[in-house]
Amino acid sequence: RDYVRKYVEVNYIEGSDDEKWSKKDFPWTKKLEVNNKKVFGNHSFRPNQREIINATMSRNDVFVLMPTGGGKSLTYQLPALISPGVTIVISPLISLIQDQIMHLLQANISAAYLSANMEWTQQQEILRELCSGRCSYKLLYVTPEKVAKSDALLRQLENLYARELLDRIVIDEAHCVSQWGHDFRPDYQSLGILKQKFPKIPVLALTATATASVKEDVVQALGLVDCVIFRQSFNRPNLRYSVMPKTKKCMEDIDKFIKDNHFDECGIIYCLSRKDCERVAETLQESGHKAAFYHANMDPDKRVTVQKMWSKDETNIICATVAFGMGINKPDVRFVIHHSLPKSIEGYHQECGRAGRDGHRASCVLYYSYSDYIRIKHMLLHDMEQNSNANSGRVLETNTENLLRMVSYCENDVDCRRFLQLIHFGEKFDPVKCKKTCDNCFKDQNLIDKDVTEIAKHLVELVKSVKQRFSASHILEVYRGSLSQIVKKYGHNTLSLHGAGNSVAKGEASRVLHHLVVEEILIEDVKRNEYYGSVSSILKVNEKKAFNLLAGRHTIILRFPCSTKASNSSRNDTSTPAKGMLSFSKESPPRVDTPAQTQPELDTKLYA
Ligand code: ADP
Ligand code: MG
Ligand code: ZN
Repeated sequence: RDYVRKYVEVNYIEGSDDEKWSKKDFPWTKKLEVNNKKVFGNHSFRPNQREIINATMSRNDVFVLMPTGGGKSLTYQLPALISPGVTIVISPLISLIQDQIMHLLQANISAAYLSANMEWTQQQEILRELCSGRCSYKLLYVTPEKVAKSDALLRQLENLYARELLDRIVIDEAHCVSQWGHDFRPDYQSLGILKQKFPKIPVLALTATATASVKEDVVQALGLVDCVIFRQSFNRPNLRYSVMPKTKKCMEDIDKFIKDNHFDECGIIYCLSRKDCERVAETLQESGHKAAFYHANMDPDKRVTVQKMWSKDETNIICATVAFGMGINKPDVRFVIHHSLPKSIEGYHQECGRAGRDGHRASCVLYYSYSDYIRIKHMLLHDMEQNSNANSGRVLETNTENLLRMVSYCENDVDCRRFLQLIHFGEKFDPVKCKKTCDNCFKDQNLIDKDVTEIAKHLVELVKSVKQRFSASHILEVYRGSLSQIVKKYGHNTLSLHGAGNSVAKGEASRVLHHLVVEEILIEDVKRNEYYGSVSSILKVNEKKAFNLLAGRHTIILRFPCSTKASNSSRNDTSTPAKGMLSFSKESPPRVDTPAQTQPELDTKLYA
């Protein structure tokens, strides 16, 4: 990890930035300012834009972390325009590329792109233009698989390089390099070849999402040298965050939320499956909203139509899978609702980031149910079986880890949401600055640290004593002393720990149990039951990790709201499984549902 130490950290947030990049006496300063106004129509630069441009124009390798909508494109398009040769831009999606090229051509900047699914003759033409004496392109966009697989392209780049016409290599959406990111693309990993072949050409890597590990991966995979980092606070002060329990009434809750706070305004509802998208859109239509759905399984024409209608405000609400959004640049999105658990904190942050680009207030509401964790984990397993390769074990592990962090985020009803999100980007956010714009800060509750080690031990022991063959909700039932038919049927009412937790609030016990899953002391073993066609999950013990806990060498402390009735409050229980979301298989009895819990009036107050 030596390369980490080589960083020249230019940290915007902590004010430790190097003033030299903000100077206005570089040889290109005048040109920059003129072209920014004339060609791009901007009155000024946004934070960090001038600094990034100066650093890359000074031929440094530069790594840029800037929130979505911050204006990353300008930081390479403007240098490309005022440099003599060609800038190569690697970008993951054709739709993103086409959108960019359209804007460039509108501004009279010559640009082209190469992708694998283009006609070969068309590709030839572009390559020929590249090696012609007076290549007119200022920017050439390529997809990563082109770099990985096309020798013809590499030869043309070598040719440009030899003629000193290769100005700069730009890696847009650079987090795609890393398996730790939410959007891993294997072809990005082969981009390291560019730095090997063209060591003197400055590389500019740009992303809106990078945790410390993603950043390390990117720097290493691309082979960046003495890289200058520009990092901007990822906090979005105009967004309000909250997590709500997802119950059977979820659709009613969403309908009410929109009507009370954002009626007839523009929003996105992220759903897990295509079916969910359609169902959610339909239900909203029935309740009088202008809603449409959008997912990868649709006819491409239909997709374009839906997106256009949304851009023109002919529909207000798009119910979409995460396929919707990359490159979407609608400024007045007033709410982003997650109908189910996002797959990672970075993904969540990015999806929320599509709200409130215009700087006005917008809401981000996540409907959380622990059972969605099991659903998604099952989908991940399924994906792995479908595209199994040498890497899939590691990918699954990473995905599960990212997912568990999201569970932990949702289960946390204490810490500032901004703090919890930003810590993943290596940014330490002071919760005072939240000013009660997230649900947890809004609650303004007294908190108390509780030692829950005993509860944790009991739960682990219970999982063992039911032979690791039952679900989380069954374990909780037994722990709390339920005498339901199923508990009796398996004789679990005779276990010594049956009812051991009868004085512990349900919310408290389930939070401890979910904490054990997040800490990987307990493991959800998700299976599909071919016979019932259903998904089930049983809890197992991770012996290695459980050992210290059971041996009394591991203490678990969780923070709880401290009310007078702390230990039978239901406030913590944001995790009641929604009925009908999980059915049972032979090995595991049905989850026993408890009545839907509703959150205190927090919601309306927060948005009033
Ligand atoms: P990112 O890639 O960081 O998500 P973009 O480069 O797509 O962001 O820019 C987002 C929007 O901001 C675009 O509409 C762009 O025209 C606009 N923009 C960028 N820089 C400036 C600026 N200096 N002044 C005004 N608008 C800008
Ligand atoms: Mg961009
Ligand atoms: Zn907060």
